[in-house]
Amino acid sequence: MNAPAAYLVPASVDEAADALSDGEATLLAGGTDLLLQTHQGVRAFRRTLVNISRIAELKTISLSGDRFRIGALVTITELLHSKLVCQHLPILAQAADHFASDQIRNAATVGGNLCNASPAGDMLPPLLALDATVELACRKDHRLQRRNVPLDQFFLGPRRTAMAADELLTAVEIPLPPARHYGRFFKLGTRPALDISIISIALAGVLENRQLTGVRVAFGAVAPIPVRARRTEAALEGRTLDAEVISTAVETARAEATPISDIRASAWYRSEMIFNMMRRLLHEAADA
Ligand SMILES: Cc1cc2nc3c(=O)[nH]c(=O)nc-3n(C[C@H](O)[C@H](O)[C@H](O)COP(=O)(O)OP(=O)(O)OC[C@H]3O[C@@H](n4cnc5c(N)ncnc54)[C@H](O)[C@@H]3O)c2cc1C
Repeated sequence: MNAPAAYLVPASVDEAADALSDGEATLLAGGTDLLLQTHQGVRAFRRTLVNISRIAELKTISLSGDRFRIGALVTITELLHSKLVCQHLPILAQAADHFASDQIRNAATVGGNLCNASPAGDMLPPLLALDATVELACRKDHRLQRRNVPLDQFFLGPRRTAMAADELLTAVEIPLPPARHYGRFFKLGTRPALDISIISIALAGVLENRQLTGVRVAFGAVAPIPVRARRTEAALEGRTLDAEVISTAVETARAEATPISDIRASAWYRSEMIFNMMRRLLHEAADA
């Protein structure tokens, strides 16, 4: 493990952006991914280590008009216990409830989960299914500048994102879901809350008279990045969830997933689990 040459603890987004502006800094939030990776030597610290954990602006969850804003430093525990999240975005609370142990949840942040960009990150499929965007900030021309990136354009590959080396992720924004919005998260693991996902699925949409509209289906751990399953969504959109529609949708889902074999499961097993668990989720929606 290498050691950073400098350590900074900014108190504001402005100060953090300043510290990142030469592109030679590594950002530390909860440290549950970063410290393991640097300790194991799979990645190295850049020249300056910037610990953002004291920036109050990044720790809040709010609803303003029809948009939620979840600060990058909100922890998984805080998501799980947020009244706003449980009431309006229960699929996020479900994912938080399947995320690691209490100790990890207390430190792990939403921003860290997104920026680590693991295809198995548990918050990623539900956030994709909620049409989330991420806000990125940097210092340019002596000013703090912010830009928004739709989450489905943020992930470029395993541990690669559209965020530049001089940017930090400040918040996730989510449109307020409409009435009768339905959302379910499923995670497959030997001990689902403690293990990294073998596969995960997020299903969302407006559910009325056994029909889903505005359907969103997102998969984790079946491709190099978390993905929207757009052909599966099209097979479900506006259709009554009867046996034929469900059968077509789960076949489509299996064909659409492109998993690999690794230490946790074979590609074949992952495909079969997408098929079976998607079927279970759709039957639950039909009976809801
Ligand atoms: C025992 C154990 C169990 C785990 N279980 C799960 C699990 O069940 N599900 C799951 O999804 N993950 C799991 N993880 C992985 C990890 O806890 C999560 O990915 C966590 O959300 C990372 O957040 P963090 O705040 O700790 O990020 P850090 O480790 O601090 O950072 C992770 C990466 O993101 C960057 N980063 C962090 N915040 C920002 C920001 N605001 N802007 C720009 N870059 C940023 C860092 O530079 C680093 O590259 C587990 C980890 C461990 C050690």
